[in-house]
Amino acid sequence: MFRAVMLHQVDGEVVPSIQQLDDDRLPPGDVTVDVEWSTVNYKDGLAYRGAPGVVREYPIVPGVDLAGVVASSDDARWQVGDRVVVNGWRLGERHWGGHAERARVSGDWLTRLPDTVDTRTAMVIGTAGYTAMLCVLALERNDLGPDAGTVVVTGASGGVGSVAVSLLSHLGYRVAAVTGRTTEAEYLRGLGAVEIIDRAELTGPARPLASVRWAGGVDAVGGEILANVVSATAYGGVVAACGLAASMDLPTSVAPFILRAVTLAGVESVEAPAHLREQAWARLATDLDPAQIRAMTTEVALGDLPEVTAAILAGQVRGRVVVDVRR
Ligand code: NDP
Repeated sequence: MFRAVMLHQVDGEVVPSIQQLDDDRLPPGDVTVDVEWSTVNYKDGLAYRGAPGVVREYPIVPGVDLAGVVASSDDARWQVGDRVVVNGWRLGERHWGGHAERARVSGDWLTRLPDTVDTRTAMVIGTAGYTAMLCVLALERNDLGPDAGTVVVTGASGGVGSVAVSLLSHLGYRVAAVTGRTTEAEYLRGLGAVEIIDRAELTGPARPLASVRWAGGVDAVGGEILANVVSATAYGGVVAACGLAASMDLPTSVAPFILRAVTLAGVESVEAPAHLREQAWARLATDLDPAQIRAMTTEVALGDLPEVTAAILAGQVRGRVVVDVRR
């Protein structure tokens, strides 16, 4: 038997409850994992709210991430006791996810945790942190190094943003953090940001080309803010776009791309190939400061998830939330 959050659809509403389930309720898959920690991402907020386009079929166990230990395996690549992480692969959307003590998944979806990363830290990082690392890798692939100048991070107090600020500052970049919560300025400086920009400054229609303010950036919010980030990016700069916390739109022009040779690098984590995941996790093991990881973490239990998932959609969660699934 194991405990899990289950989302049911009742009269068009999504209703979460904690249930005690038998192992034979687990969906098909070749590896069973004893989940130790999970986390809360923006997409989990959408799943708990029943937003269209996230969960395909109810009932479902939500949770797009999990970290734990292999309990049984029919896949020769995975042995009992292996410490693993799953990020994405439609977990918590089409397949039962990580907000449970036990999960059954495809061996193709597992990534081996580096020796120095415990399962709790893996979930502090979670999809949000691993996506932040994918953004950093995208800047590096496009030759945007720490010497290029300021790098701007939007949605900075959120999950992707917090880890991006921490990673970039650790790597020697000069980081400007954009936030709607200027009360979090101290927190963001603690993660390494040297400049705090009020989100309001970047809200409103973007000019085709604005005065240059930065060499590149990591954007978790989209919309006018991303358009303003791109139009103030220097010649040859790079902006990694991964999120839509503000909007799905991108109201910009081609001017930054054809007149300043700016690159907009798209970042996607859910279906990212195994080699890229391994590269990201190896880098996360070395490039994150443990003290900063502690500073950005809040710990919750399974029963707290309805409240926390609503808070993340309201932009009220700071940093990263880890879920102790055994609590
Ligand atoms: P969080 O909610 O933790 O962070 C988002 C942050 O964006 C908030 O904390 C807030 O930061 C800012 N924000 C919220 N609402 C608005 C708004 N209306 N206008 C401007 N800024 C806003 O979410 P995550 O960090 O987990 O995810 C961020 C985004 O990245 C989401 O859209 C998510 O779907 C996406 N994502 C994409 C992935 C991919 O594979 N491409 C993977 C993971 C996440 P502040 O208060 O500091 O302004």
